[in-house]
Amino acid sequence: MRYVILGKTGLEISELGFGGIPIVRLDRDTAIQVLRRAYENGITFYDTANAYRDSEEKIGRAFDGVRGKIVIATKTFQRSAINATKQLENSLRMLKTDYIDLYQLHQIAQEKDWQAVTAPDGALEAVIKARDEGKVRFIGATSHNLSMAVKLVKTGLFSTIQFPFNFIEDAAKDELFTVAREMGMGIISMKPFAGGMIDNAEIAIKYLRQYPEAVPIPGYDSIDSVEKVTSYYQRPNVVTDNDRKLMEKYRRELGKQFCRRCEYCQPCPNGVMITMAMGYKLVASRMSPAVSVNFSRLAMESVKHCTECEVCIERCPYELPIHDMLKVNYELYEQHLAMNR
Ligand code: SF4
Ligand code: SF4
Repeated sequence: MRYVILGKTGLEISELGFGGIPIVRLDRDTAIQVLRRAYENGITFYDTANAYRDSEEKIGRAFDGVRGKIVIATKTFQRSAINATKQLENSLRMLKTDYIDLYQLHQIAQEKDWQAVTAPDGALEAVIKARDEGKVRFIGATSHNLSMAVKLVKTGLFSTIQFPFNFIEDAAKDELFTVAREMGMGIISMKPFAGGMIDNAEIAIKYLRQYPEAVPIPGYDSIDSVEKVTSYYQRPNVVTDNDRKLMEKYRRELGKQFCRRCEYCQPCPNGVMITMAMGYKLVASRMSPAVSVNFSRLAMESVKHCTECEVCIERCPYELPIHDMLKVNYELYEQHLAMNR
């Protein structure tokens, strides 16, 4: 494991980070074991969020006593100063610390988010105040929207930018990375396995290691997953022709109609279980039709209630044609149902 400097923050962190979402699925003791194994294997950068249920609390408990040896990034979805301050205080309590190394404004995707956080009494004002008081060392932002991420970087207000980056979602490597590098910002790559769509961790990491300026934060849900991913960092990175072919195969199969399962489109006003229904094609490609119809029945039946209102499309950071994609998946589901009658 190498240690790198996170942009102009000057913070030294492991070249591989730890994403705090999957530990919410684990019971507390297992989560703590996973976190501690990550630390033993050299990971010193932990990214979480107030919104990730008990993730902050688990991190706080796991690293009580070694706080000074790790770098903690967390974030707030709140847009107003008063609510952001409340969340920050809560994060400090959960994380058992009196300072956050990197406090990020979470998912600034649309112009309205930007307007809200920068308004008088907006969240940014509260976070700057917290920095002045020493509760926050550096301020960052996260986004799933490329043009907004570029805009955030160009404001010069943030020390880091966090954006999805993997060999399927690789748009960030051009303008975003270039501008962020020019501004001396730290870059954090979220969703290094495309939200679970890339089930070959080795090639995912091989791809990411070609961009050492961007620190990936995979999630880990077991000690084995920590061992596996950290082991890739114990050898030089060699991307073979075969790896490239495999990546290309994933790209072809997932195509541009790729739902990242980020859930920002939810809830549907008509009760459609959008994310699960969007994933039906993938589920069906991995299971038999009989298993996939049973597995996804509830979600696929909910698609019947779609009125094509497009509320979800307005919320989707990737502007996916959601109701058209749902329709295609529903047709496939009906075919599978017919095969099993
Ligand atoms: S378009 Fe369909 S799935 Fe999307 S919010 Fe409207 S009803 Fe729900
Ligand atoms: S449809 Fe869009 S917003 Fe909804 S989960 Fe998929 S990528 Fe996210």
